[in-house]
Order: sequence, then C-alpha cells, then structure tokens
Amino acid sequence: MSKNIITKLKKENLLGRGGAEFPAGLKWEMVKKVEAKKKYVICNGSEGEPGVFKDGFILENYPEKVVRGIEIAMKAIGGKSAYIYLRKDYYQRFVKKLKKIIQNKISPLNKGGLRGVSFFKKQNGYFAGEETSLLNAIEGKTLEPREKPPFPTEKGLFDCPTLINNIETFYYAAKIDENKYKKTRFYSISENDSKDKNVYELPIDWTIEKILKETKNFPRYNFFIQSGGGASGEILSSDDLNQKIGGSGAIVIYDFEKTDPFELMKKWADFFFTGNCNKCVPCREGIYRIREMIEEKKIDEKILKDLFFVLKETSFCPLGKTAVIPFESLIKKMF
Ligand code: SF4
Repeated sequence: MSKNIITKLKKENLLGRGGAEFPAGLKWEMVKKVEAKKKYVICNGSEGEPGVFKDGFILENYPEKVVRGIEIAMKAIGGKSAYIYLRKDYYQRFVKKLKKIIQNKISPLNKGGLRGVSFFKKQNGYFAGEETSLLNAIEGKTLEPREKPPFPTEKGLFDCPTLINNIETFYYAAKIDENKYKKTRFYSISENDSKDKNVYELPIDWTIEKILKETKNFPRYNFFIQSGGGASGEILSSDDLNQKIGGSGAIVIYDFEKTDPFELMKKWADFFFTGNCNKCVPCREGIYRIREMIEEKKIDEKILKDLFFVLKETSFCPLGKTAVIPFESLIKKMF
C-alpha cells in the first residue's frame, strides 16, 4: 500500500460514490487524525434506490478490489475492525465469495488472512442505508438516523471514530493505490419498467448526452430522464442533457408519451412512504400528504409548495430533504 494513500485520494479528488459526494481523502484524514483506542471502517453496500444497481455489479465483478480498498482504509486510519454492511439480496449473493477472499487474503499488510472484518445484513427500509442509521443497526439500537454533529468520523460505531464509504468508493481507493485510476465512475442505465439494466464504467466528466450516445442508449422516441438516482434523482428533459450526473450515477429513461406522471409520482411516493423511518413529522406526514394528493390526482399547488418547503428545510435526515427533488422537477417539466 502507498504510504501516502490519503494524499493520493485528495490529489485525485475522489468523491464518495454513495450519493453525497463528500471528498474521500478528507474523510479518511478526519478519521485518521482522531486519537482513539479503537476505530472502525464500514463498507456500505446497502444500495437501495430503484434504478441504482452499480454496487451490485462491482461486487459481482470486482470483489477483490473492494476488499483491498477496505484493507487499505483500515491501515490508513489505524483501524483493526471493519464491517461490510450489505442489503439482503447482496448478502445472499456475495457474502460467501467475500468471506473467501478475506480468509485467503495474504498480503504485505495482513499475512494469513485479513482479520477483523465482519458482515452485517441490512434490514428494513431505504433509510437503513443512511450512514447513522446503519450505525444504530449494527449496534442493535432503534433503527433511525442519529443527530449530526457529532459526525461518524469523530463518534461513530460504538462511539468510536468510523470511516463509512460505499462499495464503489472502496473499489476506486484500491485503484488509486495502484496508480490505475483513470477518472471514471460506474453508471447504472435503465429504462423505466424494463428488465434491461446495464452498468458502464466511463469518464466522470462525460455529459449525460455523451453517455447515452456512446453506450447506444440514446432513445429514438420523445423522452425524459431521471438523473442521479431512480427515486430521489432530478427529472431532466432531453434538452437538459449537456451536464454531468451527480448522486449515485444513475440514468433512468422514460418514454414521454407512455409515462403517466401520476403513476410515476405514485411510485416514488410509495417508495418514500415505505422507506422512511417515521422518526420526524415533516417527512412522515409530508410524504403521506404528497402521496394522498397524487392518489386523488388533485394537486393543490400552494399546499404542495408548502409541503416541499417544510420537507426540505426541516426533515431530520437527507431522505426527507431529497424526496422533494423528483416531484418538484417533474411537475416543473410536465405540468
Ligand atoms: S427525514 Fe425523518 S422520517 Fe424521514 S427517514 Fe429521515 S429521520 Fe426518518
């Protein structure tokens, strides 16, 4: 492992690939700097948003790289324990393979197997992938987000400094360590309601238009897309594609003529309704009211605007704040 891995992560400006895009090098450095007897690394494999499936692809194709990234992180922050937190179906599909890699791992860092790595199967809804909810899950506490600050980098798992990154971030940390990072990221591309789902590793600075054209996914029909994630992503028309993708790197393509906006919004509303943790009123009640209006197909613009405002400004965790994005952008483009 490079002695200066944190410097390299910063130089390459690797941003977390779980959606929040926090600079990875800075996060690793924050955990490293805290003096503590025990520190943890958590690899977040809870990928749970519709239209986002690239972490599953990475686990399927490059599990060694992910394990290597975790190993490098443990060494870099001075931690001896790590958790790999996986959503249920990923746990079933990949846990054996990952355990085998970890047991057989003989490297200059850990002779005779990589020690201290445990697995945890994600339970419940979408919010359980939020970084402080997963800390509570592993600790066996009530499954809900924690107040921040303190941030997990300072006070995370069992109150110890904890580095949490997602699968793709660890994959690229390993690539950067080997000086093989070519400024790429993984994109999940799918069409609404189609089983045809593809993942592509392409440059981070390509526009959506270029990605769709180069991968031969640019539709011949009148379309719009959802960019970033398939529930919390922003709706963009086919004229807005001269921009990069943020968030989790997903593109979901919708046929303009065949998509019923109410059906689509109902799908998101159901997702957020069942995927929230019920902890705070703005999100719990706000999503309930939005869902009710969509079901009745009666949009009161004034009330909806107020609900969006309250959700964005007062929700306790990012789920409530970002739930607004798809509804707001779809209504702007389609009504
Ligand atoms: S915004 Fe509130 S109710 Fe929604 S998931 Fe976060 S804590 Fe739970």
